[in-house]
Amino acid sequence: MKITRRGFIQAAGAATAAGMIGTPYLAMAGSKKVVVVGGGTGGATAAKYIKMSDPSIDVTIVEANKHYYTCYMSNEVLSGSRSIDSIRFAYTGLAAHGINVINDTVTSIDADKRVVKTAGGQALSYDRCVVAPGIDFKFDGIDGYDAKVANHIPHAWKAGEQTMTLRNQLKAMKDGGTVCICPPPNPFRCPPGPYERASQIAMYLKAKKPKSKIIILDPKPKFSKMGLFTQGWERLYGYKTDNSMIEWQGTPKGSDDNVLQSIDAASKTATTGFSEVKADVLNVIPAQTAGKIAFAAGLVNDKGWCPVDLKTFESTIHPGIHVIGDASVATGMPKSGYAANSQAKVTAAAVISMLNGQEVGTPSYVNTCYSIVGHEYGISVAAVYRLNESGSKITSVSGGLTPGDANDETLKREASYAHSWFTNITNDIFG
Ligand SMILES: Cc1cc2nc3c(=O)[nH]c(=O)nc-3n(C[C@H](O)[C@H](O)[C@H](O)COP(=O)(O)OP(=O)(O)OC[C@H]3O[C@@H](n4cnc5c(N)ncnc54)[C@H](O)[C@@H]3O)c2cc1C
Repeated sequence: MKITRRGFIQAAGAATAAGMIGTPYLAMAGSKKVVVVGGGTGGATAAKYIKMSDPSIDVTIVEANKHYYTCYMSNEVLSGSRSIDSIRFAYTGLAAHGINVINDTVTSIDADKRVVKTAGGQALSYDRCVVAPGIDFKFDGIDGYDAKVANHIPHAWKAGEQTMTLRNQLKAMKDGGTVCICPPPNPFRCPPGPYERASQIAMYLKAKKPKSKIIILDPKPKFSKMGLFTQGWERLYGYKTDNSMIEWQGTPKGSDDNVLQSIDAASKTATTGFSEVKADVLNVIPAQTAGKIAFAAGLVNDKGWCPVDLKTFESTIHPGIHVIGDASVATGMPKSGYAANSQAKVTAAAVISMLNGQEVGTPSYVNTCYSIVGHEYGISVAAVYRLNESGSKITSVSGGLTPGDANDETLKREASYAHSWFTNITNDIFG
């Protein structure tokens, strides 16, 4: 099977990351094996782009769940703006591309023998492995909170059942109730996510339970797109007035004011260094690390994230294994779905070049994070990135934010861009 340089670029085309190809690509005969661990945003994209670009490679993806629920747009499920089914995706699309889809949990990766083992007893050998397990939570930092308690005090930071638990609690809450959101410390998945969540919940409460309040107990002094969010909250939810639906309590640098210390699950009380909030709905989003399998495979640094060569996303600890998405240390890029998708395309190109003994080109990367603050009110931050000369950082070379003086028409258009981005990216990953 031969594929031309033009063919590869077309395949990678939806990705503005296509600029990553620096070397002509020629597929070679022979069975090269790639095993992808984790079929979320990063893993599914990598599997699809490797297979589409070089069908001679035997690509297997191992995913623990039968369906994937996107976290992106899950905040709209919380507000009732969309259904949970609209964020659920199956793996039939990947299988149709000729990828072996295995529904199982990976329990170990032997980097020396190049074998991935699963809970179901499979041993999958590989020439190159791509690991994209997403995040796990540091439950031990919050007294009274653990994985079991999270079943009824949801984090909803992995979408699906958790999203529905939180949605149902919001629906059941009385008018005049208090929703308390406790965002995590940096670094974490989706930096604007907790604030989009507060916005979406406010939109719902304003329409259905207008006497209610949202309190955000934030361990940080500032947050992503803060100026744009607070401007939206002022316009839509009375922010900075006595009647504000949203109250954001930050933490000055060096203090522990709103750092969550403990929760009492029975009374839904959150205690920080400064205050105690009794909520009707409590949403605790704990501090995060790379997904568990990254620890088992010895891919993490002392901070719990996976260091990689930013040109290829190959682990700097275990050669032959590439780590992408939230679990990786992609210095300069946020932990977002679009970033994971872009990194997956960079990695697909690198893996193909490496398997064919070719030089890896210099990549470019892309990310846009949209947030929907209210009905027909969207904001965004976008960037195109290049690797810096020393290879130590992914540097933004272009991009920007929604202007602070954007008019209603622009904000409405941003919201519709957000929805079309969702349609496009999910089709790009799973279609
Ligand atoms: C509320 C919220 C809103 C968000 N909104 C946006 C947004 O608007 N735009 C955006 O770009 N990003 C957004 N994100 C961030 C985005 O969801 C993540 O950054 C993205 O999913 C990361 O992709 P990933 O592949 O690293 O991890 P994931 O997508 O989480 O995929 C990891 C996959 O690996 C599987 N897995 C893990 N361990 C194993 C194992 N041992 N064996 C088999 N399978 C395993 C998991 O089941 C999972 O399917 C949002 C996140 C949240 C929480």
